[in-house]
Amino acid sequence: MTNRHHVLQDNRKPRTEEQERVSRRKFLAAGAAGLGAVILATKAATSAEPANESASAGLDFPLVDFHVHLDNSTIDKVLELSRERGVMFGVVEHAGTKENEYPTVLSNDAELQGYLAMLAGKPVYRGVQAEWIDWAGCFSPEALAQLDYVLTDTMTFPGKDGRRVKLWSEDVESRVEMADRQAFMDRYVDWHVEIIEKQPIDVLGNTSWLPRPLADDYEAFWTPERIRKVVDAAVKHEVALEISSGFRLPKPYFLKIAKAAGCRFVFGSNGRYPKMGLLDYSVRTAGQLGLTKADMFTPAPDDR
Ligand SMILES: [Zn+2]
Repeated sequence: MTNRHHVLQDNRKPRTEEQERVSRRKFLAAGAAGLGAVILATKAATSAEPANESASAGLDFPLVDFHVHLDNSTIDKVLELSRERGVMFGVVEHAGTKENEYPTVLSNDAELQGYLAMLAGKPVYRGVQAEWIDWAGCFSPEALAQLDYVLTDTMTFPGKDGRRVKLWSEDVESRVEMADRQAFMDRYVDWHVEIIEKQPIDVLGNTSWLPRPLADDYEAFWTPERIRKVVDAAVKHEVALEISSGFRLPKPYFLKIAKAAGCRFVFGSNGRYPKMGLLDYSVRTAGQLGLTKADMFTPAPDDR
């Protein structure tokens, strides 16, 4: 059971839609198993070049890319890639206030319902990428409960004036206090913990990403002590960590600490068309770490 479900559970009542969603999940599960079967069959038939397939990496679970953006594409185009690549997709539209600048930002129940309707009946998990810390108030608990999962990240951070700053902005150093790199890193770790503790999320996306002024010294900034703070919070609040093939992060030593602490994981690309479903780094790293089905996050069934 996830944070979100803890928060929302009281508002949930049994109804026919519920049953419909349960059967949709069975369909999804069957779809994922089906993909696995296709992968195995393809592998048996050709045995050459089984790239990007769970079986080839010795993984005992079907591949899911939980961080797929539909920007500049359509669900049907994206689903062609899902089939081609033997990877199931979790689609995440950005969600939050209109103050967040993205091609599309879902900001109220009507927009969220439109998004859910657009994905209805498609063999995907339906998620959102939540923005900043005021997103949940944009929606009713009933509407949020229809999502399969909520992913967020820590890449938007309070600036000197307290307002949200995208840490990947060119002018980040003038807007966020980071002259003292170590002091910034401590605040950044605290920001991870705060988001994990307070936001009703299922997945921490883009895990361990660092802004450009720090990125070259990843290992100096992500010390085992700091990693433990983040992974302990993730375990406690049942938030899964994304192993990102888009960023090729977290590095294996980070993930080793996370695995030992009992974290759950998802794979993600953060891909825009046609880069979704390219999970090479995630698959390879999971193979090296010996991750199994039990280490991986799966959206909770709707009756929980
Ligand atoms: Zn994203």
